[in-house]
Amino acid sequence: MPGEFDLIDWIRSQHKPSAFVPVPQGDDLAVLKWDPADLLLVGVDQVLDGVHFDSAVHPPRLIGRKVMNRNLSDCAAMACLPAAAVATVALPRGIGIDYAKELYLGLRDAADPFDCRLVGGDTASWDGRLACTVTVLGKSAGIKPITRTGARPGDGVYVTGPLGGSILGRHLTFEPRVHLARELARTGLLTAMLDLSDGLSRDLRHICRQSNVGATVDAAAIPIHADAAELSRRDGREPLLHALHDGEDHELLFTASDTPPVPGIVRIGTITPEPGIWLSRDGSREALAAEGWQHSL
Ligand SMILES: [Mg+2]
Repeated sequence: MPGEFDLIDWIRSQHKPSAFVPVPQGDDLAVLKWDPADLLLVGVDQVLDGVHFDSAVHPPRLIGRKVMNRNLSDCAAMACLPAAAVATVALPRGIGIDYAKELYLGLRDAADPFDCRLVGGDTASWDGRLACTVTVLGKSAGIKPITRTGARPGDGVYVTGPLGGSILGRHLTFEPRVHLARELARTGLLTAMLDLSDGLSRDLRHICRQSNVGATVDAAAIPIHADAAELSRRDGREPLLHALHDGEDHELLFTASDTPPVPGIVRIGTITPEPGIWLSRDGSREALAAEGWQHSL
C-alpha cells in the first residue's frame, strides 16, 4: 500500500524496549525470550467488516480493540497470561494511513494493560472490506491451563458477570477477564472454563459435550445485564432470553467442585451426570435449546 513503509516505521517507533523481545523490530520474524518452564498457548481470531463490526458506524480504534480483546479473552478462558501477539490487517484500498494507525492504536490499547507485546504483523490493501486477524501467544506462568473437559457431576456452574444485550456496545468495549481467571484458577477448584462468546446456552453446551455431562441452570440465578433489559424494551424479547442466548458477553463460564472464594462470581446451576441442559424456572424445568446466534453489529 502507498505509505506502507511510513506505517511500519511509525509502528516500530511505538514500541517500548523489553527483555522479552531481545531482537529489535524490523527483522523477518520476531524473536521472543520464552521461559522454558512456561507452556505456550496459541490462538487466533479474526474480525470482518459486516460480520463482527460495521466500519460505517464503528471507529477503527474500537475495531482494533475488539479483535485484540477477543484473543485476550481466550487467554482468560484458559487461565493463561497473554505474552505477545501478531496482527494482519486487510485495508480497503485508499482508506488512508491515519485509519490504519487508529486500528493499530486500538490493538495496542487492549494489549498494553496486560503487558502483551504486539511483535509483528502484515498490512495490505485490497478491493474488499476491512478484515483484521490477531494471533496471540499465551504463557501458562505457573498455572495449569483450564480446559473444557473437566466438569464433573455435582460441580457448580458459575459466571463472572451479568449477561445479555452486548449488541448495544459492550461487544466492542468489554474487558477480558485475564486476572480474574488467574485468581479463580489459583484456588484449584475449577474443573472447566471458557469465555462466553457464543452465548450462555451454546457455550454451556460446549463444556457439557466435551466433559460428557449435562447441566441444570436456575433461571432466577442468572445475572441479567442492564443492556439486556434495555434491549428487551426495544424488541419485546424477555431480558432472560437475551442473557441466555445473546453472544459476545466475554464473561467467563466455569465449573468448580466448590464455590471459589472470589468476589463477583455467581452460581447459576449444577452439573448433572445425565446429558442434556435444563432450565429450571418457577418450579418446573424445560430443555434449554441452544438458539441461533448472530454476530453483533
Ligand atoms: Mg473462547
